[in-house]
Amino acid sequence: MVDYVLDKHDRPMKDLRISVIDQCNFRCTYCMPAEIFGNDYRFMPESELLSFDEIVRLVKIFAQFGTEKVRITGGEPLMRKNIDQLVGRIKQVEGIKDVAITTNAVFLVRQAAKLKEAGLDRVNISLDAIEDDVFKETNGRGIKTKPVIKGIEAARAAGLSIKINMVVKKGMNESQILPMARYFKETGDTLRFIEFMDVGNHNGWNMDTVVPKKEIIDQINEEMPLEPVDPNYYGEVANRYKYKDGSGEIGVISSVTDAFCSTCTRVRLSADGNLFTCLFASVGYDIRSMLRDGESDEAIISRLIQIWTKRDDQYSVDRKKRKPTKKKIEMSYIGG
Ligand code: SAM
Ligand code: SF4
Ligand code: SF4
Repeated sequence: MVDYVLDKHDRPMKDLRISVIDQCNFRCTYCMPAEIFGNDYRFMPESELLSFDEIVRLVKIFAQFGTEKVRITGGEPLMRKNIDQLVGRIKQVEGIKDVAITTNAVFLVRQAAKLKEAGLDRVNISLDAIEDDVFKETNGRGIKTKPVIKGIEAARAAGLSIKINMVVKKGMNESQILPMARYFKETGDTLRFIEFMDVGNHNGWNMDTVVPKKEIIDQINEEMPLEPVDPNYYGEVANRYKYKDGSGEIGVISSVTDAFCSTCTRVRLSADGNLFTCLFASVGYDIRSMLRDGESDEAIISRLIQIWTKRDDQYSVDRKKRKPTKKKIEMSYIGG
């Protein structure tokens, strides 16, 4: 075990998020707008993706830094062939206690049971509207909510722990805040609202497009009274609230109006093996070359220590002071 490594703000490296593919079956307007990610967009060829052996080797190294949680994301991670095999191998790594996937759920109908069998603990399912007309627009592919609802049901039937994530963007889906809250209050699944963020370069973000946490909570509280709940653990990104009638809880991830950088323990690996210390980074650190050049575990460990100890990121805290000039990494590349 490597000693705990802290960054410049005393944050340990704890949660590893691995993007396994940059492709997706959706074209969510705020993430992969169809005009940009069209037929001639060049996605990564398979040879550029980290292999399962390479990913597992890195997970073993991260586990030595105290990483206990791994989240698999993308693009759409269920489009990566044999993803259940990767889940199974990660789950067996000593020290890894929790493996989760973030997905749009469409392929869960076929895959939920085998993912659970492989050792998957949790799924975060993204769904931005409960009404077809709105959802068909947000996903950019005219897909109705039914395939996602079926995916949620398959996950439930398989015994996976489920959370639903809804990005809220003004002018896109704020009409769905209450209908989504009502629907998932009924099913008992925790619904988490995510403030629309300025990730990437193509989603037309500006402050006017953000629906602040307070507005979301006030809207729901008026109809379905809420009370705040303490965080489950250090670094939890969602502010939690429970329904006063005891019928479950919701969360809000308020990266824009109430930044949580001070407890950010997340490290992200892109599908082609670049390491990012912040969602809003412009450049990553090339770890794949080290793997493919035959570097030892020790050499990779000292590189990670070097990267983490000089980490100074707190983009969301500094957002207002920053000039929006630098090119940022796309969400579909780095994963959520
Ligand atoms: N395709 C999978 C999915 O949608 O769940 C995994 C990858 S997706 C990039 C991960 C998460 O990032 C999703 O919940 C998505 O809604 C969220 N996301 C993407 N772009 C975002 C943005 N600009 N602001 C806030 N959340 C965003
Ligand atoms: Fe695909 Fe997820 Fe991005 Fe939507 S948010 S386009 S489902 S990667
Ligand atoms: Fe972490 Fe960067 Fe997000 Fe702050 S802005 S919480 S440092 S990923």
